[in-house]
Amino acid sequence: MQRSVRMIVFQRLESHRNKIPWNDSEIASKIRMAIMGTRFRQNKTLRLIEKRIRKSSKLKFRIPSSEIDRLVEISCLRYHSFMKNPIIQNILSDDITEWYTFSRLDATNYRGNILHITPDIIWKKSSTWNLLRFSVQSSHSEVSEENMSMLHWAIRRTGLPSNPNRFIIHELNWFRGKWQWSRKRGSEAMEIDSLNLINMDIKAMKNLHDKLGPACDLSQIPLASNEKVCKTCGHRDTCPGGDDLTRAKLEQASLEMLKSSTKL
Ligand code: SF4
Repeated sequence: MQRSVRMIVFQRLESHRNKIPWNDSEIASKIRMAIMGTRFRQNKTLRLIEKRIRKSSKLKFRIPSSEIDRLVEISCLRYHSFMKNPIIQNILSDDITEWYTFSRLDATNYRGNILHITPDIIWKKSSTWNLLRFSVQSSHSEVSEENMSMLHWAIRRTGLPSNPNRFIIHELNWFRGKWQWSRKRGSEAMEIDSLNLINMDIKAMKNLHDKLGPACDLSQIPLASNEKVCKTCGHRDTCPGGDDLTRAKLEQASLEMLKSSTKL
């Protein structure tokens, strides 16, 4: 659902840019097609995983058509509600003329590390550049520390200012049944804080990589705190937590104890 709503939002904006006529009455069928397309691609990947693990994937389950109908209905509601946001309205009415969309998959190189800190939409108002990320399913309503890293993407980008004060970070999150809009002006302090956070994340990833070793021993990866998370996790088939989270945690704890006792 998340991907299908995002895809339709971008299609709507790009059709406006390219002056292609858009019919809002086709939204439900577009969203349905997007959901079915995602399912098709996921099943293709699952077949590859099944070949590799030589057993049936736990992620393979049929979604009844009533569930697809429900997802389409929810997605349409979130899409229409999103399009009413003043930022989007200003783009569609050409009050904002300088704007661009980006893919979250775009990579930013930072000291030889690949970061995914690209905003979804940026636009210019007066001399300020605005950077927006939106999430169709969110667990928070405020600008997250993680999304402040968009500032680094922006100040390193050719054609955008290098002064952090010339940016505003926006987040639009679907939270508790409505779109919650939060924003924060960029600053030197934000630049330093988010850089510290990026460095800490890189360090944690490197530590984890060292811990897993060259064979990438997945028994050592940090496990989820709740097995509900595992039910929809894409790594379920290959992660020890995907089979039985409690057992995987116990095994991990005993491995840790064994490791520390052999070091003594
Ligand atoms: S299956 Fe593994 S990686 Fe996925 S949420 Fe559970 S513990 Fe985490």
